[in-house]
Amino acid sequence: MSDIAPQPAPRAPRASRWPELSVVVPVHNEADNLRPLVERLRAVLAKEVASWEIVFVDDGSRDDTLGIIRALNAADPRISAVSFSRNFGKEIAIAAGLDHAFGDAVVIMDADLQHPPEVIPAFLEKWREGYLNIYGQRTDRIGETRLKRNFAKAFYRIFAQFGETDLPEGAGDFRLLDRKAVDALRALPERARFSKGLYAWVGFRSIGVPFEVAERAHGQSKFRYRKLFSFAFDGLSSFSTVPLKIATWSGAIIACVATLSAFYFLLRTLFYGTDLPGFPSLIVSIMFFSGIQLVSLGMIGEYVGRIFAEVKRRPLYLIGERVGFEARTVDHPR
Ligand code: UDP
Ligand code: MG
Repeated sequence: MSDIAPQPAPRAPRASRWPELSVVVPVHNEADNLRPLVERLRAVLAKEVASWEIVFVDDGSRDDTLGIIRALNAADPRISAVSFSRNFGKEIAIAAGLDHAFGDAVVIMDADLQHPPEVIPAFLEKWREGYLNIYGQRTDRIGETRLKRNFAKAFYRIFAQFGETDLPEGAGDFRLLDRKAVDALRALPERARFSKGLYAWVGFRSIGVPFEVAERAHGQSKFRYRKLFSFAFDGLSSFSTVPLKIATWSGAIIACVATLSAFYFLLRTLFYGTDLPGFPSLIVSIMFFSGIQLVSLGMIGEYVGRIFAEVKRRPLYLIGERVGFEARTVDHPR
């Protein structure tokens, strides 16, 4: 197969005043992880690229995260940050990171060292071969509960069946994007951002690089089950209209059944008269139909809510402070 598959053109040698690689890291209360992360990144980047920068996005941390970032920036101006006015969520933080990254390529990674910096050389190798959208593929899900793992599996299965975009198995936010893919992502205006879907949607020459997820270094995961459920629903509803179709079809089927049974009861009463008051069946059917109606209304409501959020056209995020961006133009990074 490799003989037939079109081979991407290798990258031309660089001649640019921008850093070759930006590393975008969303952080929310990660004070203990920042220094170890920067040390490990520095060791890898020094060997692998001509020039680099690290862009932290402080997503409304309440611990000393911002203070540590300021200290890191004072020691090394290649480390910069934007700090949100409050917690906007990881997806939005990534979007802000991409808006502030100057590199020819951008790596997105978590701050908790679950995404090992040592995988970045493998990403870079693929990038230099000409791939533009290189995603880390989890080979396992160590450190996650069985429930979370099964939940993820079920989600991917449902998404593969009904979603409008193919999500590669095990691909997460840990990835390298070429400038072209970054600019494409930045041009997507939606507020409900399901980035896994967006990365796949923009396309470009993509390839996976397997890696083993490490255990979280310090602190604990910020994603509780309720948040994961709403995240999954966000994903499904922004990339498919299946929830709406389920409502429509179940409504239609039940309406048919109801019409048929109405005829049946009518005929039976005409020919045999009433023998039973029929009270229980009445109550059961009323409950059944009101249940269906509420579910359908709820689903429509979810979409209307999303439309509302989009039409308000609020800014995606608000920045409280920029660290290390004074000397650069931030409104039009490139
Ligand atoms: N994160 C964030 N905003 C949030 C929650 C998390 O920026 O509201 C960051 C967090 O600091 C970390 C990354 O997103 O760098 C992944 O978070 P976490 O490790 O809690 O998620 P998990 O690994 O359990 O999916
Ligand atoms: Mg984590």
